[in-house]
Amino acid sequence: MTSGGIIREINHCRICGGDKLVKYLDLGMMPLANNLADSAAEAKAMQRYPMQVLYCRDCSLSQLSVVIDPRELFSKYAYRSSINRAYLHHCREMALSVRNSLGLREGDLVVDIAGNDGALLSVFKDELGVRAVNVDPAENLAEIAEAAGVPTITSFWTADVAKQIVSEYGRPKLITATNVFAHVDNLRNFVAAAKDCLDDDGALMLEFPYGVDFIEHREFDTIYFEHLSYILLQPTKRLAEDLDMQVFDVQKQAIHGGSVRVFIGKQDAHEVSPSVAEFITKEAADGYHDVAVYENWKKEIRALIYDLVSQISNLKKNGAKIAGFAASAKGNTLLNACQFDSSTIDYIVDDTPEKIGRFSPGTGIPIVDRTVLTNDPPDYLVILAWNFADVIIASTSEYSGKGGKYIIPIPAFKIIGPGDASE
Ligand SMILES: [Zn+2]
Repeated sequence: MTSGGIIREINHCRICGGDKLVKYLDLGMMPLANNLADSAAEAKAMQRYPMQVLYCRDCSLSQLSVVIDPRELFSKYAYRSSINRAYLHHCREMALSVRNSLGLREGDLVVDIAGNDGALLSVFKDELGVRAVNVDPAENLAEIAEAAGVPTITSFWTADVAKQIVSEYGRPKLITATNVFAHVDNLRNFVAAAKDCLDDDGALMLEFPYGVDFIEHREFDTIYFEHLSYILLQPTKRLAEDLDMQVFDVQKQAIHGGSVRVFIGKQDAHEVSPSVAEFITKEAADGYHDVAVYENWKKEIRALIYDLVSQISNLKKNGAKIAGFAASAKGNTLLNACQFDSSTIDYIVDDTPEKIGRFSPGTGIPIVDRTVLTNDPPDYLVILAWNFADVIIASTSEYSGKGGKYIIPIPAFKIIGPGDASE
């Protein structure tokens, strides 16, 4: 499959427009993570693009050096939210939390940007009795959301879609954008469209992987072409203020290796929580508003990749059979950064029906379903989706019961054997 490729290179920061960008990590040439192939040969021959991360000296945003055509990245997005039980639990907790903090009432309008298959909005409808509208560009997911009773506009989030919502449904009290903000190229237009749409005392709630966790926990494998920005509160606050808006609350969340939930409202519409100043002060005190932290991190990541390659290759040389768990975007970055293929990792286990029988981009490793853990079990299962390690370990107890071991690759190589699964 040919790709739309690079649509622009980043010479100016997407939040502040500054040009003092410092490249601090280069993972080499990488294929697109969600482009699963139909054969190992096709997977290995896939087109690759430079994967590099830049730091903005003006606003402290980290961002990829290139933007790949989003129609290529997202229109056939295979990942389905509702398949992930941990995520559904997170949605329920979120619904109850915002009901209290924003005073959401029955009949209020909630819009979810990039709402996937409608999982979050279904929970909001059930828990809060709100009206819901989903906006998502993936046609196959929109059909699933509509079937579940969640009206869906098949589109990216734009000013036109915001207008359409106001005229058809009214002004939302809440616009949620979970795990999408970091994927957006034009963040300014994204937030401005939300501002135009929101009720006067409404809120835009962003949830994205937190830039501090990214560095602290060495989450280099969360770098992939969909994930354009690695975000601190500092640049987010700056963006809101540039648009005459206000960050009025920020909360830490455990999901996706450490995320933040950031609430943005119109100027003076909400009381500002002390948490906002606390986050900014801590980011600065810990050095995240200075390039030195990032340059040092590059050395840590090189050492980590070297260690993963040598430890896993050694196990293989000693005759071990090694598999991966979850053919995720993360896994793709890790496997390609380590230059593994099926001579080291025999297969990747996954639960998504659309992925089974296909091949991991770049590496050509086959993707198989769980039955392989019984029929042809590995000695080691590398947990590529390490953010769901607890769930994965709990759901594969039969495998570990027969002596199967796990490898956690991030933030450092670690083996979990029978008997120490509680670690
Ligand atoms: Zn900047």
